[in-house]
Amino acid sequence: MSLTLAVDGERWRGHLRSVAATTPGLVPVAKGNGYGFGRGRLARKAQWLADQGLGVDTLAVGTYEELPEVASRFAGSLLVLTPWRPWVADLDPGLARRVVHTVGRLDDLAALRERDPAARVVLERLTSMKRHGFSGDDLRTALASGRHEGVAVHLPLAAGAHLPEVERLLGEAGNTIGALWVSHLTADELGRLRSAYPSLVVRPRVGTALWLGDRDALQVTATVLDVHPVARGEAYGYRGRRAPRAGHLVVVSGGTAHGIGLEAPTGQGSVRARAATVARGSLDALGRVRSPFTIDGEARLFAEPPHMQASMLFLPAGARVPAVGDRVPVRVRFTATDVDRVEIT
Ligand SMILES: *Cc1c(COP(=O)(O)O)cnc(C)c1O
Repeated sequence: MSLTLAVDGERWRGHLRSVAATTPGLVPVAKGNGYGFGRGRLARKAQWLADQGLGVDTLAVGTYEELPEVASRFAGSLLVLTPWRPWVADLDPGLARRVVHTVGRLDDLAALRERDPAARVVLERLTSMKRHGFSGDDLRTALASGRHEGVAVHLPLAAGAHLPEVERLLGEAGNTIGALWVSHLTADELGRLRSAYPSLVVRPRVGTALWLGDRDALQVTATVLDVHPVARGEAYGYRGRRAPRAGHLVVVSGGTAHGIGLEAPTGQGSVRARAATVARGSLDALGRVRSPFTIDGEARLFAEPPHMQASMLFLPAGARVPAVGDRVPVRVRFTATDVDRVEIT
């Protein structure tokens, strides 16, 4: 029994459809752990959106290594978000014409075109995030140097100052952009951009707000694998720790291999001391760290640091004791959690 992501399929699909219908030019992003769903599943869902005539012609992945898994499930163009570098292996011919490379340095642009003169490229402009991309001058050079499919900007998450930054970059590049590939603009900002620049094709790249935008459609649960009563002072666990009071040890599925960690420390001690405890991945005494697992309506404390595939929780006397096989809710960061099963109903 496993750590499971249960998806209310009708509700989730309804959300995906409504985002696609209200976001012209949408480029779904299926990178990393596939936002908890897996990249392959997201690629199939992107194809499903495309099949409904919702205009999804391009899917984005994070890295070249992620291409094969989505390429067999989504038929359109594939944008790679990590900028191309000379060490990227040549693509096989079947894939090469579907892939849109992101390029952010003049040397790379020249090297890529030398390797594949017909390479499809999006030119990335460095933003205030300062991750990748051309300076303004280099972007103008790149825009003038040959065929391209637009300019990409990756904006910081904090909303507010986005539009002025985008407008400044547009001002620099003039009318030669064609398409602007953007992330993290609100619907309102996208609308204002479209009306201010009617000839600009806006391509919003969206991951989180698409796949995870309706949290109530998603629930992650762990399975109760075992339950043991413990008396006050009784030893348990890898380190023979002693129970400070009577209750139950509840062993649930979900551990470090799934991305379940120690988080949200509670109890005594300075913030700094508690942070150090968490960083060491160790507990000096029971009851210092709250787990993401909820039993009988409350987030329960880890009885000891999570194991590789299971976690041991302490349930104090008086709480309702779950049965082996029960499912209990888990609060997770979807982009950092690998579930064992996805159940779409
Ligand atoms: C990951 C990523 C996105 C999508 O980000 P979300 O916050 O998940 O929507 C968009 N653009 C780039 C360049 C990215 O790397």
